[in-house]
Amino acid sequence: MTQPDSPLSGNLEASTSFETINPATGQLIQRYSVAGAESVSQAVAKARAIFPVWKAVSLEARANLLRSVMQALHGRADEIAALISRETGKPLADALEADVGTALGVLGYYANIGPKRLKSRPIQPDLISVITGRLHLETFHPRGVIAIISPWNYPLAIPASGLATALMAGNTVILKPSELTPATGRWLIELVRETLRQHYLPEDIAQCLMGDGSTGAALIQQNVDGIIFTGSDKTGRRIQQAVSGRAVWTSMELGGSDAMLVLEGCPLETAASYALWGRYTNAGQACAAVKRLLIPRHSAAAFLGHLQAKIARLQVGPPENPENHIGPLISEAQLHLLDSQVQDALEKGARLLAGGKRIERPGWFYEPTLLTDVPENARILHEEVFGPVLPVIPYDSPDEAIALMNASAFGLTASVFGPEPQARAIAGRLECGTVVINDVGPSNYAMPCAPWGGWKNSGSGASHGERALLDLSRVQVVSVNRLFRMPGLQKPLWHFGNRTDLLIARSKTVLAFSSAHPSIWNPLTWLAFWHNRASTKI
Ligand code: NAD
Repeated sequence: MTQPDSPLSGNLEASTSFETINPATGQLIQRYSVAGAESVSQAVAKARAIFPVWKAVSLEARANLLRSVMQALHGRADEIAALISRETGKPLADALEADVGTALGVLGYYANIGPKRLKSRPIQPDLISVITGRLHLETFHPRGVIAIISPWNYPLAIPASGLATALMAGNTVILKPSELTPATGRWLIELVRETLRQHYLPEDIAQCLMGDGSTGAALIQQNVDGIIFTGSDKTGRRIQQAVSGRAVWTSMELGGSDAMLVLEGCPLETAASYALWGRYTNAGQACAAVKRLLIPRHSAAAFLGHLQAKIARLQVGPPENPENHIGPLISEAQLHLLDSQVQDALEKGARLLAGGKRIERPGWFYEPTLLTDVPENARILHEEVFGPVLPVIPYDSPDEAIALMNASAFGLTASVFGPEPQARAIAGRLECGTVVINDVGPSNYAMPCAPWGGWKNSGSGASHGERALLDLSRVQVVSVNRLFRMPGLQKPLWHFGNRTDLLIARSKTVLAFSSAHPSIWNPLTWLAFWHNRASTKI
C-alpha cells in the first residue's frame, strides 16, 4: 500500500536556512541555518575521534552520567516543557507527561540496567563445549558513531530514548532533530554536553546538527556505524535505500495505523474513554494512536453515543489555556493532508458523527472527528492518519475483526479491550510489534523496559528494553579452552597424529551420549555453567 508523500519530509533541495512556525498562531518562532555537508562531515569526524575516550569510560561512570542528565532534566522540566509546547502547540501537561516523563524514565532505566546487562557473562554451554572444556563469554562493545534522526511529535521523548541507549552502550551520538522542533533537540543535547563537562568528559560525545531532510540525508551518507531513525515510512524507505550495500546498522521506528478492538462484554463507556485519549491525545499525532476502532455491531450505536458525548466535551485550542485538551496540528501541510483524507472518506460514503473540518482561527487546528460506515477503499483505512480523526468499524465476529485489524500495511501496535483470557488469545493472531490489553498503544512508549518496534511497514529493530541496549552494542564471543592449562589434556584427541582407533572410540561415545535424551546430559551443562559463573565472578 503506498503512502502519500509526507508534506513534512524529504526536503533534499539545498537550502541554507529554515524557519520554525508556532502551529498555534502561525507566527514565526525562529530562523536557523541548515547544517550542510561540510558541517556534517566535521561533526562525524569529531564523534569518531572522541569515540575511544567514551568507549573506555566504565559502565558505572556511563550510568552516572545518565543519572546526572536525568537530574538536570528534572530540575529544568518546566523550561523544556514550555519550549516543547511552543514548538508543537501541545498542552503543557502533555509536554510534561509524555515528553519529559518518558525521557526521565528512559534515562533512569538504562542507568539502572546498563551496568549489569552490558557486563561480560558466560554462556550456558552445550555438551560439546563441556567435553572440550570451553568457557564462552559474551562481551559487549559499543558500535561507534550513532546518528539519531528524530521526528517532531514527541521531540524530547524520542531523541532522549535513542540517546540514553546509545550513550549507555558507549557510543558517541549525533542528533538531527526534526526541522519543525529543532530547538527542543538542541536543548537536550546542550543539557547532555553541560553534564559531560561537569563529569570532566569531552562534550563532543554528544552533538546536534540543525537542519532539514538534506542534513539528515548528508548525515547518513557519512561513515556512521549506526542509524536510529524515527519518522515516516516513506523517509525510512529512502534511508534504507541510501545505505543499502553498506554495513551500517539501522533501527527504523516508522508509522502506524493501529487498531483498537473492543470485545463482547467490555464496559462500553470505559472503552470509549480509552479510545478518546488513545486517538485524540497530541491532536492525534502519535505513531501508536488508535487510528481504527472495531466494535461489535450490536454495541456500535451505544459505543458511538458515549464517544460523541466525550468528544463534545473536548476543548481544542492553544496551549496557553490550561483547560485545552488538544492543540493544533504541526503544520498547514499536515492539516491539508488530513482534511483530504477525511473528504475522501466522506465522498466514498462514510458517515460523519463529529467534526470534519478545520477550525477557523489562527494556527492549524482541526476538529476532533468521528466517522463510521467508512468504505473499505477509503484512504483513511490504509494510509497513516496523523490527526484527530477516528473511523469506527462495526464487526460481526472476532475472526472478521482480526482480519480487518491485520489488513494494513502497518504493524506497530494494537489494543484489545475485554476479558483477559480472550484478549490474550487474540494477541497472538495480530500482526504487530506490541499488543496492549485493556489499554492503548501510546501508554506503552512511556514504559522503557518493554521493547518497542514495528512489523511490516512500521519498521525494524526496537527501541527500549534490554534488546535496544544490546542492539547498540557489538557482541563479541570470547571462547577460552580451559583444558589448555591441564597437562595431558592440552592437545585434543582429534589433532593429527593421535591414534585413529582411540579417536573413533571417543567420537562414538560422544555421539551416543549427545543423542541421548537431554535429561541425561543437561545436568552436566548446568554444572559447567554454574562453575563458569562462579569462576568468572559474575
Ligand atoms: P519524517 O519522516 O518526515 O521526518 C523524520 C526525520 O527525518 C526528520 O528529522 C527529517 O528532517 C528527517 N529526514 C527527512 N528526509 C530525510 C532523508 N532523506 N534522509 C535522512 N533524514 C531525513 O517524519 P515526521 O513527519 O517528522 O514524523 C512523523 C512520522 O513519524 C509519522 O509517520 C509517525 O508515525 C512516525 N513516528 C514513529 C514512531 C515510532 O516509534 N514508530 C514514533 C514517532 C513518530
